[in-house]
Amino acid sequence: EVVERATVVDDYLVRALAIEDDALRAARAASHAAGLPAIEVTASQGALLSLFVRILGGRRVLEIGTLGGYSAIWLARGVGPDGQVVTLEIEPKHAQVARENVDQAGVGKSVEIVLGAAADSLDALIAAGGEPFDLVFLDADKQNNARYLAAALRLTRPGSVIVVDNLVRGGGALAAAEGTGGPAADGAQELLALVRDEPRLTATAVQTVGGKGWDGFLLAHVS
Ligand code: SAM
Repeated sequence: EVVERATVVDDYLVRALAIEDDALRAARAASHAAGLPAIEVTASQGALLSLFVRILGGRRVLEIGTLGGYSAIWLARGVGPDGQVVTLEIEPKHAQVARENVDQAGVGKSVEIVLGAAADSLDALIAAGGEPFDLVFLDADKQNNARYLAAALRLTRPGSVIVVDNLVRGGGALAAAEGTGGPAADGAQELLALVRDEPRLTATAVQTVGGKGWDGFLLAHVS
């Protein structure tokens, strides 16, 4: 019941604050019409990501897990027209829909979509030795989050921020907390231990309820 009521409140707040505009609604609708799963961030979460980038004054963002580009549009708005979002996606169809969506939303110039397994793309980014990223958003296959976090540490600078989505459900913190076991729980434990033991990271984990039910995210600051 709490989740149902939280969804009503989430919808209300998104409308009351006019959080989502036509371009974002169109991107979401185009992704669903193309048959992509409806697992993009909610409008409130997308706006929060965009705000994190603005608060940081971030100009370079790395996203792991593009889907149809919905969160990439939010992130691109956060970095502004002179900034850059690099987003990694393994599914060619998702990358193609995302390309159309980011172009349609008017942020195409700021968004680079890298097709391939994120682990390989991250290795390539590390090898290329480019400018560090100001914010990294982990939102792909959750079991590999610890690996992605380790890569993110090599691609950021003191002052950067790392956000890990879906920590509670898909990310396995619920299974780990309740001791039910399984790969998601193992993934959560591995990620949380890595964050806890990494002296460069200061982190917290926040549970959320809203349009996508009960979940949560991890927020970490790199020093
Ligand atoms: N960030 C997107 C948004 O909010 O609009 C949602 C991303 S969705 C939850 C996860 C995406 O990660 C899917 O498109 C999936 O194909 C992609 N993915 C899964 N495993 C991957 C991998 N190993 N490398 C790169 N992308 C992967």
